[in-house]
Amino acid sequence: MKLFFFYLFIACFLLQNCSQSKKNPANTVEGTEKFYTAEDFFTIKKIDAHIHLYTNNLDYAMQAAEDNFSLITINLDDVNEPPPMEVQQQFALHQVNAFPNRVAYATTISVRHFNDSNWQQQTIAYLKNSFAKGAIAVKIYKVIGMALRDKNGKLVMIDDPRFDTIFNFIIQNKIPVLGHLGEPKNCWLPADKMTIKGDRSYYTENPVYHMFLHPEFPSYETQIAARDHLLEKHPDLKFIGAHLGSLEWNVDELAKRLDKFPNMAVDMAARITHLQFQSVNNWQKVHDFMVKYQDRLLYATDDVITEVSDFSKIKNSVHAKRTSDWQFFTTNEKMTVADFDKPFNGLKLPKEVIDNIYRKNAEKWYPGLVVFNK
Ligand SMILES: [Zn+2]
Repeated sequence: MKLFFFYLFIACFLLQNCSQSKKNPANTVEGTEKFYTAEDFFTIKKIDAHIHLYTNNLDYAMQAAEDNFSLITINLDDVNEPPPMEVQQQFALHQVNAFPNRVAYATTISVRHFNDSNWQQQTIAYLKNSFAKGAIAVKIYKVIGMALRDKNGKLVMIDDPRFDTIFNFIIQNKIPVLGHLGEPKNCWLPADKMTIKGDRSYYTENPVYHMFLHPEFPSYETQIAARDHLLEKHPDLKFIGAHLGSLEWNVDELAKRLDKFPNMAVDMAARITHLQFQSVNNWQKVHDFMVKYQDRLLYATDDVITEVSDFSKIKNSVHAKRTSDWQFFTTNEKMTVADFDKPFNGLKLPKEVIDNIYRKNAEKWYPGLVVFNK
């Protein structure tokens, strides 16, 4: 019996020690091992999953290399935002050829000839050609739902059956879709009610897209519902919602969609400021959201470089934005940004979360990026 208690004592001692030794490393990793630092920004391989290079000038890509970023340059087609997609594709291919292991591109579809009888064949032929050229994704743009009208003058939403053939073709080719559908909720508000200064200036400069001025167009909720319906119709479609899936204003609403659609991820292009805005009052909620959905979030900036951009003038601000984002995700420092007035704290996400949002998720959701690992 004595022996039994002796063994029990030994067992308890080992167990306690064991659980302590499990705890202790955890305590030590609270320090430097579990989190990245500001200096790590340069040594960690990262991917910016959503930018627009509409130029043959290579300065942007070279600066990205200095910051240890690979890039996905995105084509889109919109009469309001030249150049047309064929020209954008030429620019993209020039960049890809110059940096085959650092730049990839997403092609797009045009709806300029949507009402022609052979629009579907034309579109599929263009996609086929783009895939042969190495496009790793297809961008779908907000003109669908916000501008495109059919022969009868009726506004066409993305869940319209006329798109089914196109989506089926994309799915057959195992190509992911990057969908910019709808706009930030701010777009449906008067300028003085918008939460983010950047949104206020964008819609003031682009009134054609300021939906508060166009009440005859579908509501914010209708846009989101059409996108959700598209995903219900095509459960096999690998879908990356651009700009936090236009649910940038509330991580709970975004979480609902990510729970409902396992084939959906989102990029953070031009919407990190909305996460920062939410973290002013709901830091823990935003932090926990990022940790919980760490496999579904892709870092991106939405930088746009055109032929008239003087990169030497914007180089510093491009770099500064990237390091500011890094500070927000990796540290818990108090920060401010130009988009709103209140300060907020960085999220200090663990290394594995940072690795996912900055690189691994892009590789997983855009399998064509395998070229980056060569
Ligand atoms: Zn974009």
